[in-house]
Amino acid sequence: MTDATRPLSPSTLAVTAGRPVRVAGAPLNVPPTFTSTYVQGEGAVYGRFDNPGWAALEDAVGQLEGGRAVAFASGLAAVAAVLDEVPVGGTVVAPLGSYSGTLNALQRGQDGGRFGEVRLVDPADTAAVLGVLGGADLLWLESPTNPLLAVADLPALVSAAHHRGIPVAVDATFCTPLVLQPLALGADWVVHSATKYLAGHSDALLGIAASADPERADRLRSTRTALGATPGTMEAFLALRGLRTLHLRVERSQANAAVLAERLSARGFVVRYPGLVGDPGHVRAKDQMRGFGSIVCVDLPDAETAERFVDACRLWTPATSLGGVESTLERRRRHSGESLDVPVGLVRLSVGVEDVEDLWADVDQALTGLSGRG
Ligand SMILES: *Cc1c(COP(=O)(O)O)cnc(C)c1O
Repeated sequence: MTDATRPLSPSTLAVTAGRPVRVAGAPLNVPPTFTSTYVQGEGAVYGRFDNPGWAALEDAVGQLEGGRAVAFASGLAAVAAVLDEVPVGGTVVAPLGSYSGTLNALQRGQDGGRFGEVRLVDPADTAAVLGVLGGADLLWLESPTNPLLAVADLPALVSAAHHRGIPVAVDATFCTPLVLQPLALGADWVVHSATKYLAGHSDALLGIAASADPERADRLRSTRTALGATPGTMEAFLALRGLRTLHLRVERSQANAAVLAERLSARGFVVRYPGLVGDPGHVRAKDQMRGFGSIVCVDLPDAETAERFVDACRLWTPATSLGGVESTLERRRRHSGESLDVPVGLVRLSVGVEDVEDLWADVDQALTGLSGRG
């Protein structure tokens, strides 16, 4: 017997949500609709306002987030739409050492007078965040941060910000809705670079912003329309196709990441991974996440050693971005725009879904080669 009132688990929703109504002879998936306009009359009007493929993806992600999702052309377009909610001249509190694209958008906004002030603070230091929150118009968080993997105490920060009337946005790209649900923890918006885990195959750029507040969700939609930050038809199709296996990919890549982090740490390397018992974010991550994500960072002593390690890998591809089925790695500070709070020798590993022994063997030979050359 099935209980019709029992909520479906996220794994089931990843597979079933965002499907067309079941009608004999109808397609099982919402087909991509390549059109810039619609015949005048009832329903859709123009391609910048609506697309059936966006709606299917938004339905599925919205159900996973516990809110209403709006799809954007990229993760950064979703970030920009939420930042657009800040009043002109307003103050934003944001995490140090977080995603460089977001920090760049905040810096540009401050330089151009769009924001009055941007206050960067260590998100793992709750007292420090509270110390700079006074008079802010938005608390922007990212947890764990990209790439430092700092874990913010989300329940404490959300409640402190709300107490002061400050809304909170959380970039949960590293977690996916299967691992962290910021809206359930009280956040006003959750943002994803769906380019990463949600789409999951390194073949599409797409962003998601979601809110449990229908008015906020409506404003996100109108911002998208007004700024033209619309996703491509094919990208939305690929993202929903990728989402169908999100739970399987997340499960495997998290299990792989846990093994690799343990082994790297056992070899004496400085490893950042919230799943390690000794990691500063471990207890918090255990309390507020379901798993620890699939990004592992290793702090090598200097840039040159880090580059030699990256170059010596054969199976792991040196590439920016993350969250695909394939394992990739990069020394983040090779980008001149990366935050100076990120150590020069930090290598970020995006752990994929390959066989973990193959992944380890490659990392192991690359590291052994390093010490071999002194
Ligand atoms: C990649 C990334 C973004 C930006 O997403 P794009 O899809 O590249 O625009 C935002 N936040 C985080 C944490 C990211 O890793």
